[in-house]
Amino acid sequence: MGSGETYRGRLAPSPTGLLHLGHARTFWIAAQRCRERDGRLVLRNEDLDSQRSRAEFFRAMIDDLRWLGIDWEEGPDCGGPYAPYSQSERHEYYLAAWQRLRRGGHIYPCFCSRKDRPQSASAPNDNDDEPLYPETCRNRPDAAIISDPRGMSWRFRIPNGNAIEFTDLKLGPQHFVAGKDFGDFLIWRRDDVPAYQLAVVVDDALMQITEVVRGADLLKSTARQILIWQALANVSREFSGQIPSYYHCDLVRDGAGVRLAKRHDALSIRHLRETGTTRQEVLRLAGVQ
Ligand code: GLU
Repeated sequence: MGSGETYRGRLAPSPTGLLHLGHARTFWIAAQRCRERDGRLVLRNEDLDSQRSRAEFFRAMIDDLRWLGIDWEEGPDCGGPYAPYSQSERHEYYLAAWQRLRRGGHIYPCFCSRKDRPQSASAPNDNDDEPLYPETCRNRPDAAIISDPRGMSWRFRIPNGNAIEFTDLKLGPQHFVAGKDFGDFLIWRRDDVPAYQLAVVVDDALMQITEVVRGADLLKSTARQILIWQALANVSREFSGQIPSYYHCDLVRDGAGVRLAKRHDALSIRHLRETGTTRQEVLRLAGVQ
């Protein structure tokens, strides 16, 4: 972030379940970092996956975040200059990025499986990341002439063997190798849903986010997103600005050392609230107070 530039942070929950202590931790840290820098905080509703997103989870996440004492200046509930703030309403922006990536030769259609991983519209974590793709469809000659993403999945052509390095503001220097840590990853699903990796880059760029605060399970996704940023920066002015800084928070684990997930209902903020846990206690359990 250049000096004089306004810090813009974001909270990017997916309304696919109740928020838990891990979210409390990440979003509290994100909000603190933003406040300390006199910035603006954006709430982005990551509801790309219509099968798993629910309106009641969206309402619960807004309510739980406010109960925790987290406030934002822009979001689906309060509007703002970069609206809409729900991913399900931003298809045209993702499509424009898809067109640019295709014209630039950065993506290709993939006909390998009849069904995409249903999870690809959501952020992957270490246990459900996509397997290395064997590049079967990589050199198909028809990529350049297909002008509509629908009906097939699309993959990003990674620079095999290249290192992707960045300095995380919390975890320090990071190093990933394309082709080893991840392969040609999905960018668009056959059912016309953009993949998480593309949507996040497009939104962070267009919403002018200067720092991304999220869980450490997304480090490898950051490497992939940097590649998308670089590819889009080559073909579009909107992406030629600075890539955001990254701050990946330590994960909250349950008693058995397992990373919290939405299935940990007992550790959801909602359940804790309903069983009488105070806000201070929730923040303490989340390790931020
Ligand atoms: N929506 C994602 C999630 O809930 C987070 C995406 C991000 O912070 O980039 O896991």
